[in-house]
Amino acid sequence: MSQMLDALTPSARSAPESGIVKVFNYGRTREGLIPLWAGEGDKPTPSFIADAASQALAEGKTFYTYQRGMPEVREALAAYFTSLYGRPFSDEDFFLTCGGMQAIQLAVQLIIGEDDEVVVPAPAWPNFEGAILARGGVVNYVPMQFEQEWTLDIDRLFDSCSPKTRAIFINSPSNPTGWTASEAQLRAILEFARAKGIWIIADEIYGRFFYDDALAPSFQTLREPGDRILFVQTFSKNWAMTGWRMGWLQAPPELGQTIENLIQYNTSGVPTFHQPAARVALTDGETFAAGEIARAAAGREIVCNALRGRNDLHFAPPRGAFYLLFGIEGETNSLDTALKLVDEARIGIAPGSAFGPGGEGFLRLCYLRSPDQLSEAMGRLTDWLDRRA
Ligand code: PMP
Repeated sequence: MSQMLDALTPSARSAPESGIVKVFNYGRTREGLIPLWAGEGDKPTPSFIADAASQALAEGKTFYTYQRGMPEVREALAAYFTSLYGRPFSDEDFFLTCGGMQAIQLAVQLIIGEDDEVVVPAPAWPNFEGAILARGGVVNYVPMQFEQEWTLDIDRLFDSCSPKTRAIFINSPSNPTGWTASEAQLRAILEFARAKGIWIIADEIYGRFFYDDALAPSFQTLREPGDRILFVQTFSKNWAMTGWRMGWLQAPPELGQTIENLIQYNTSGVPTFHQPAARVALTDGETFAAGEIARAAAGREIVCNALRGRNDLHFAPPRGAFYLLFGIEGETNSLDTALKLVDEARIGIAPGSAFGPGGEGFLRLCYLRSPDQLSEAMGRLTDWLDRRA
């Protein structure tokens, strides 16, 4: 076995095991367990979206199609973003991918070579690091601070950039912390990136899951032609489509042919019959998306209210996304704690150690679930905490 592994490339071997998946695999068959570990809600895809895929299948939409996605889907993306951000977008800006994850892969393939550095605020979703390491790149984590809330010291971010830095990865609102960059911070990062010729990979997939306003501050409203920004996006969260593996990359249109070529050699495009469904999500999915956002806001209240005021816990109410990152006094090994919570409290929670520097000592739960289940899960957690005391 080890000889087999030795025969692989160093970059393939360096791809780490996901700590989230480790706990998930440990507990996935437990009867009655409430799963809060994954980044998804409990609702299946609504039928108006699923039916569009069934209909496409029935109509024989089973052939190869456009590498970058069908024009009507990319046009729907342009219309969707134009209405969201109140400025013009073009179908030429968008490239359909297999989930937001493949948009990250493509972004990394486009700009990160062997030994190139990417600066990433942490705690961070582990797949950023995984994608960068798998390309032979280097991750340079900038720790965020946790006091009353999670904050990012922008000067520290800039000081972490070296001549080898090719990109800054900004995930705002953030998974797992809920940290959300202010517009002033985004502007400062963009100006810094322009001055240094550095790329920005902007993962704004939680941009509509924001609790102070309808939309989180975004590079979308600041960017100008020529800016080196690659946006990662997905259908997964707004429209409950995690299993479809549908997302998109938004990139400067002059990269179009190059991106199309990379898609050709990666996946040769996303499934043809999924695409009409993705289009319907964009054109007819507003009520559903608004419902998911409201459900997340209600879930956030439930978990924060259930845990607030306990002196054995510390957390900041998240400003965006749909996760609560919390620490338990005396629990310093989050993987052990997450495994204990599976066995002793029948709840599935992700270990903070999976999220890079600053994550250890915390646990992450996803609150995009039915109020009843969340209340039950919080009851199980607080009972477990009381038993432990
Ligand atoms: N970015 C972030 C910050 C995420 O949390 C996720 C999913 N958890 C993704 C990208 C990828 O989403 P998907 O591949 O499911 O579309």
